[in-house]
Amino acid sequence: MRTSFTGDPSPASDADHAPAYDVVIAGCGPTGAMLAAELRLHDVRVLVVDKETEPKSFVRIVGLHIRSIELMAMRGLLERILPHGRRRPAGGFFAAIDKPAPTGLDSAHAYLLGIPQPVIERLLEEHATELGAQVRRGCAVAGFEQDDEGVTVELSDGLRLRSRYLVGCDGARSTVRKLLGVGFPGEPSRNETLMGEMHVGVPQEEITATMAGIRETPMSFWLRPFGGGVYSVLVPALGTGDRAEPPTLEDFRQALRAIAGTDFGVHSPRWLSRFGDATRLAERYRAGRVLLAGDAAHIHPPIGGQGLNLGVQDAVNLGWKLAAQVRGWAPDTLLDTYQAERRPVAADVLDNTRAQRELMSPEPGAQAVRRLLTELMDFEEVNRYLIEKITAIGVRYDFGEGPGLLGRRLPDIEVKQGRLYDLLRRGRGLLLDRTGRLTAGGWPDRVDHLADPAAALDVPGVLLRPDGHVAWIGDDQRDLDVHLRRWFGEPAGSRGDRS
Ligand SMILES: Cc1cc2nc3c(=O)[nH]c(=O)nc-3n(C[C@H](O)[C@H](O)[C@H](O)COP(=O)(O)OP(=O)(O)OC[C@H]3O[C@@H](n4cnc5c(N)ncnc54)[C@H](O)[C@@H]3O)c2cc1C
Repeated sequence: MRTSFTGDPSPASDADHAPAYDVVIAGCGPTGAMLAAELRLHDVRVLVVDKETEPKSFVRIVGLHIRSIELMAMRGLLERILPHGRRRPAGGFFAAIDKPAPTGLDSAHAYLLGIPQPVIERLLEEHATELGAQVRRGCAVAGFEQDDEGVTVELSDGLRLRSRYLVGCDGARSTVRKLLGVGFPGEPSRNETLMGEMHVGVPQEEITATMAGIRETPMSFWLRPFGGGVYSVLVPALGTGDRAEPPTLEDFRQALRAIAGTDFGVHSPRWLSRFGDATRLAERYRAGRVLLAGDAAHIHPPIGGQGLNLGVQDAVNLGWKLAAQVRGWAPDTLLDTYQAERRPVAADVLDNTRAQRELMSPEPGAQAVRRLLTELMDFEEVNRYLIEKITAIGVRYDFGEGPGLLGRRLPDIEVKQGRLYDLLRRGRGLLLDRTGRLTAGGWPDRVDHLADPAAALDVPGVLLRPDGHVAWIGDDQRDLDVHLRRWFGEPAGSRGDRS
């Protein structure tokens, strides 16, 4: 089988057919950087290429939700990230309905962390390079060909590289997805929003007075002091433009005049950007040796702040599976569980943002539904359900019949040896054994064993995958062995290289 997906005419080939890399990642945004780091935990040879010479410069404050914060803790990154962010209560996100988070959320990290996106990207890229990932900036993935042994990747500077796998983490307009011919069905952008930082030419009191008069729906418009005389501006665009091109200051002036009757004398922008509200989901996450993750696989309006979180969580789901494939111990179907598990999660996020967008419409019907939901959120269970959805701690993968905990993530509980997540830093499986009889001894290179963890664990034994999801619960060694094989392949010494 040989499939060709080339964009530009092929530059002179200097690709050696023995792969120089195990995985090439297109895009060093949060998804690509996190995936690179996950792969490096397993000594996979990784190259990340990004078309930009520098990481994103525009300051967009994003919210890291509970599950992503937990993943940062699980990989020893949280200490590094916390000083750069601002903790906020975990409530009030669903359609910006102002309700506090329910009490007793089942997490040691039950807060939202507001952090500038360039900062989280820089920290993740540093983490990946410290672990040994190579990052090559200033050149794009322009084409590729895959065959039974690997992928030949063409870069925009003419270089051709040979790798075993290619992952497109190259954002909403993903070149990899397009060249792969994977459909991206959904709804096109109906509305666009301009976003930027700039100086204003009027006093703050005038801004406050004007804004008080026009604010109709949450998030429709803002002009907030950012520090140093700079204001952060968010305003609905007039019509839809070419989103590949940044907007101009004149676009902002016109949009401000349309909504506020004045352009506040805006001038001297630091950066200008725009985003739309398209909702789309890739038809497939994998075609042979090429995979998609993050915005390359799913896009939705930023309501509820879930996109970056979803991408980082894709990366943690995919990393150990792709590493297992490269290292040769992956069970036959393991890599395909990436799409089976993550695509339904993305579909659910797309749906909840569709619902939130309706709830934020100023139409009388939508506002009536919003009032009703606001009342319903006074019921603890309703509020909890919605918060667990937005923060992704409610995610349950379908591992088949079993107790309620099966397929869910285990929170960062205290164990006799410290905190559970500290034991998952190396990205390996973990057997928590309260019986003193269980063993994962056949998988010493893939699964750690924690005897007598004490802990707030009311089950005899738990097998955790490297992403912290519960793969098995029980006390029977034979049943455990079946599940160890299901997730971690044949025991050491009895396997061949199937990569
Ligand atoms: C206003 C706004 C607010 C948001 N707030 C939140 C929030 O609070 N919480 C949240 O979770 N999410 C939020 N998001 C969404 C979040 O920003 C994205 O989901 C996130 O950036 C996706 O990360 P990614 O790594 O998948 O893609 P990107 O961040 O788009 O990164 C893709 C990378 O690929 C590179 N690239 C592109 N093409 C190529 C190519 N051919 N070859 C090589 N490199 C290439 C790009 O240069 C880029 O560095 C918000 C988005 C917007 C617009």
